[in-house]
Parts: sequence; C-alpha cells; structure tokens
Amino acid sequence: MALIVQKYGGSSVGTIDRIRNVARRLIDTQKAGNRVVAVISAMSGITDKLIGLAHQVMDNPPERELDVLLATGEQQSIALLCMAITDMGFKARSFTGGQAGICTYGSHTRGRIDTIDAAQVIRALDEGCICVCAGFQGVAQDGSIHTLGRGGSDLSAIAMAAAVKADICQIYTDVDGVYTCDPRVVKDARKIPVLSYEEMLEMASSGSKVMQGRSVEFAKKFSVVFEVRNSMNNNPGTIVQEENSSMESLAVRGVSIERNQARVTVSGITAPVAYTSLILNALAEAEINIDMIVANTAHDGMARQSFTMNMNDLGKAQAALKKLLPKLGKGARLETESGLAKLSVVGVGMRSNVGVAATVFGALAEAGIATGMIATSEIRISTTVDAGDIEQAARVVHAAFHLDRA
Ligand code: ASP
Ligand code: MG
Repeated sequence: MALIVQKYGGSSVGTIDRIRNVARRLIDTQKAGNRVVAVISAMSGITDKLIGLAHQVMDNPPERELDVLLATGEQQSIALLCMAITDMGFKARSFTGGQAGICTYGSHTRGRIDTIDAAQVIRALDEGCICVCAGFQGVAQDGSIHTLGRGGSDLSAIAMAAAVKADICQIYTDVDGVYTCDPRVVKDARKIPVLSYEEMLEMASSGSKVMQGRSVEFAKKFSVVFEVRNSMNNNPGTIVQEENSSMESLAVRGVSIERNQARVTVSGITAPVAYTSLILNALAEAEINIDMIVANTAHDGMARQSFTMNMNDLGKAQAALKKLLPKLGKGARLETESGLAKLSVVGVGMRSNVGVAATVFGALAEAGIATGMIATSEIRISTTVDAGDIEQAARVVHAAFHLDRA
C-alpha cells in the first residue's frame, strides 16, 4: 500500500464539475489500494477576486487581515471537495492549514513553513478517510493565519508529502508535464519524462512557470520525489527527482522564455569604489528582484552597470536609482530599455558538454536575431532578445538542440 499526496491547482477545481472529477480521481486512487492525501488550491480566480475585494475597501489592506481573507478561498474548495467525495459514498475529511498541523513563521502573505505535525491527518488516514488539506496556508505560533505566497499550494503539497513520508507527490495541473519549451510557442515541443531538481528550479526561475520555485527548493531539500501531471487525463507526467548520471547525456533539456523584461543601465559612474554595493542596496531596499547583472569599466575610466528585471519593477527601479545618481559621480546617468524578453537553455549535461553556448548563439545569429545581455549558471545560459524576436528565437534554439526528437 502506497501513500500518495495529490495536489490539484485552481483550474483543476475551478467548477463543481471539475471538483467532482477530482473527487472521482481521489476515490480511484484509494480504490487502487493507496492511502490518499489531497492538497487543494482555491477555485481558479477566487484568490484574485478576494484580493480585488480587499482593495475595494482600502489601498493597502493590513497583511494580517489579507491572510485571514485569502485563506478562505482554499477553505471553500476543501469543503466542497469533501462533500463531493461523501456524495459518492466514500469517507473524506477536510483540514485547514492549522488543522493539518502546518506551523508557519515569517511575515504575513509570505509565510514560511516551520514544522508540520501530521498526526491528525495520519489518524484520519488510519480511519480510511481521504484527507483533503487546504493549500497555501498555515498557522503561526501566536495562532494567526499565514498564507505562503502566490502559488503556495505547491509548497503545501510538497511539505505535506515530506511530513507524511509519502511515496510520491503528484502535482496535478492543466498541462501534461514540463515541456522542452512552451508548446504554444514551439509546436513540436515534447514532454520531458524526468528532470532533476536543479533543472526544474532553473526552468521555473527562467520563465517555465509550471510550479512555484520555492516548492521545488523544498522538495530538493527534503528529497521529495514529485510528478507534474494533468488532472484531465491519466498520461504519465514529468518526474522530478535527484540528479543521476543518465541525465547528463543531453546537453540541453529545455528552452524557457520569459517576456516582459526591462533593462536599466547606470553609466558615467566615477565614484565611489563601492558603487556596486550602493546600487544593489538601493534596488534591494525598493524590493526589486533583479535578474542579470553586467558591469564594465569603459576606456574613459567611467564605469557602467546594467541590470534586467521584470517590466513591472522598472518604475520603482528608476525612482530608487535616480535618488542615488548624485552619489555615483557628476556625470552619472540612467538609461532604460523595455520591450525585452529572455531566452534560457537549461540542462545538467551542460557541465560535461562543450560548445553549448556556441550552438545557442550560432542558431540565433543564423536567424538574424540580435542578443543583448548574457548570463550563465553551471546548468543554464540566458540571453535577452527583443520581445518581438522571442518566439522565433525559441524555435531556432529548440531545433538546434534537436529537442523535438526523443
Ligand atoms: N490560491 C493561491 C493562489 O492563487 C495558492 C495556489 O493556488 O497555489 O496563489
Ligand atoms: Mg499554481
């Protein structure tokens, strides 16, 4: 008998019909001889709707109250799902984050999971129940409700799987798994059968938003094997696990794209020596998540530094850096460029294969696509291109690595 944690996202429980579909799937899993724990998101659109309501009341709703409000989204879906299971003649029990023993710390709307005491859930499993837990929420030591950041149900599911020592954690969503590239952009993209945690993390952080990045980090830390699957069929999905040597045979496993990128350049920097730290601090204080960084000293002795970030942060970044300019030298200037996109190739095989970057930039050059800033990690190469070129860039790079072939 296996213990399986199944997570269903908002679109999988978006209507009463879909809730019934999930109920049936959970029952089938139990009937196949497994112990079943479900972790569920709010019905699709509900979390956004609740945020909208809060902002109709006031501009900056207190985050404590926002958490109380947002947690109700998942509370609805777990209750409805348990009713659907009960209606089909099977035993189900719902658990809010607190009831499931999920203890959190940190700040409201960005809570972090501290510990999970899954004793109640285990007891209900022993009684033959399908356990249905609310994703995205937990309770702090002082009893106040925390939510775990957008997309946080993924984290709840992985953490529950670790706590109950599940044999596998299945993450059900509206796609069949992780693809070699977004199939809407590259028609012959294929589903990737197995990925390492690192590859999944790099793909998540470079635009392939199948899962919340933090949840993948958590899975890696606690060695939780998980599988991304489609809740509307029974196709095998993408299994994400510890790296093994067979994963290195391919230099590149996938191509990710991220749109809505912007670049900021500070040029004419003459002072002081620690300017990089000043700039990065100013951006960090403004809570801007920067991505690529390129720094160079020009021949006239003036330094320049460029960063990329999401378009939405451009205004904030400009404001933060404008204030800083006088400290960076008399001639310090700010330039910005929007309308960029980022293309990344990811694969653990890059460590042991040479010529990967040459292939990427060769394919782009041949297609006449200009590249901008470049950044690399051990298993990722990223470059910015004009937003209008990103789809063609993805197609030519995908083809250059023969990712359309098994
Ligand atoms: N309902 C939450 C959200 O929309 C959490 C989740 O779906 O994972 O972000
Ligand atoms: Mg999600």
